[in-house]
Order: sequence, then C-alpha cells, then structure tokens
Amino acid sequence: MGLTFIAIKPDGVHRGLVGEIIARFEKRGLKLCALKVVVPEKAIAEKHYEEHAGKPFYPGLVDYLCSGPIVAMVWSGKDVVAVTRKMIGATKPAQSEPGTIRGDLALDMGRNVIHGSDSDDSAQREIKLWFKEEEVCSKYVKADRMWVYEVT
Ligand code: GDP
Ligand code: MG
Repeated sequence: MGLTFIAIKPDGVHRGLVGEIIARFEKRGLKLCALKVVVPEKAIAEKHYEEHAGKPFYPGLVDYLCSGPIVAMVWSGKDVVAVTRKMIGATKPAQSEPGTIRGDLALDMGRNVIHGSDSDDSAQREIKLWFKEEEVCSKYVKADRMWVYEVT
C-alpha cells in the first residue's frame, strides 16, 4: 500500500476543521500512520514548496504555512495519492467540486485548508521532510482491513 503526506494548513486548524477532515479520510477506509501538530520552521516550509520558488505567490505561501500550527499526517491505502487528491479537490476553490474538502470548506486559493502530495515521489520526499522514520507507523494491520479490501 502506498503512503501520502497530508497537512491541514493553519486556516484549517484555526477554523476547527481538523476533526471533520480526519473523519473523511478515516471513513474512506484509509489508514492513519503518523500525525503531529507543528508550527513549521520557515526553512522546512520553503523546502516543502520548493517547486513553487520564484513564483509571485511563493513568499506569501511560505508565510501562510508558517503562520500557525499545521496538522501533518501520513495516510496509507490503495491508490492513496490519487484518492486523497480527489478528496481534496482542485487548487482553486471555485473549481473544486462540491463534496471535496476544498469544494465544501474553502473559498480562496491562498487559504485552501489542506495540502496533499501529488505523486508517489513527492509523497516520499514530503514524508521524509516532515517526519522521522520512527514516527511513521505504517506496518500495523488495521482491524477493518478485510472489509475495506477484497484481497488483503
Ligand atoms: P495543490 O497541490 O493543489 O495544493 O496546488 P499547487 O501545488 O499548485 O500550489 C500549492 C499551494 O500554493 C496551493 O494549495 C495554494 O495554497 C497556493 N497557490 C497556488 N497557486 C496560487 C496562486 O496563484 N495564488 C495564491 N495566492 N496561492 C497559490
Ligand atoms: Mg501541490
């Protein structure tokens, strides 16, 4: 099973959306492997978003991520990157479908509540950036596994 890195951004924490967002991933059947509340250091936020370095919104994006606590998580499951990106919805909330996290909970691209890795490679990179190896519990077998998956 693959892993992905998900972060509830500071707006999601301040708006009290943590439980709602985690509940969506749990109900989908995904497995929680790591979770921590952290105020990001600027260097880590810059590294996290390095693909956007040089773009006009990059400094504001880094400041936004560092402006308060985030909830950093690792989730596991079948096709987890594609599944969670779909659940998160489009980057621009006006284009996020209702039913997605951004489509239900966000209005502004600069305050779009949540981050999710966009490929297996970025997931590996981001998990390494935010978590120590021993903080990620990906080996346990979730009790509902035989009811979530046809072949376990
Ligand atoms: P994501 O993978 O859907 O989060 O989107 P991107 O990787 O393209 O961008 C990273 C984050 O930068 C987004 O989630 C937004 O918070 C922010 N962002 C992207 N494009 C813009 C923009 O044009 N303006 C502003 N203010 N923020 C942006
Ligand atoms: Mg992205």
